[in-house]
Amino acid sequence: MDSEPELRKLFTGEQIAATVSRLAAEIKRDYLYKNPILIAVLKGSFVFLADLVRQLDFPLEIEFVRISSYGGGMESSGTVRMAPGALSQIKGRHVLVIEDIIDTGLTAAFLLDYLKRRKPASVKLCSLTDKADRRRVLVNIDYRGLTVPDKFIVGYGIDWDEQFRHLPDIYVLGQ
Ligand code: 5GP
Repeated sequence: MDSEPELRKLFTGEQIAATVSRLAAEIKRDYLYKNPILIAVLKGSFVFLADLVRQLDFPLEIEFVRISSYGGGMESSGTVRMAPGALSQIKGRHVLVIEDIIDTGLTAAFLLDYLKRRKPASVKLCSLTDKADRRRVLVNIDYRGLTVPDKFIVGYGIDWDEQFRHLPDIYVLGQ
């Protein structure tokens, strides 16, 4: 973009905070005595994770995963990189994946499948936002935050080319 990108506010910080509180209550209800491992997908989920865990006042662990997609042609799978040590802890444990956006669903489907093959006690998915109209594969979002339109969003940790992560609200970028 040559000119200044246009930002249109979609959700205020207050709306996001209310959503995070709702999700935290649901997660606490289900995981209170399960000592879950929360696996946050970098980088976009880091602000969401930080707000969420401060409302989860019970024992849990946190890991981070970075997913890089490669591929020529029609290949849509990715390569999952985990922090060393994270994998060995998953077997027999309750795992909750923390995402910023579920768009086509390909990233989440790949990661959930990857984790399930490592024999956890359970694997569930929490996403702050859901771009449901864009889905290409079926993904069940167990803890679902805000529905977003088929537009490019930024703010609250979510970037465009590393910009706008710091914004406390969520915006649509462009028209
Ligand atoms: P999926 O595999 O579901 O298509 O992609 C999910 C990922 O695509 C998100 O975690 C995010 O990194 C990226 N993504 C999808 N939609 C948007 C968007 O509107 N804004 C930004 N910044 N990233 C997006």
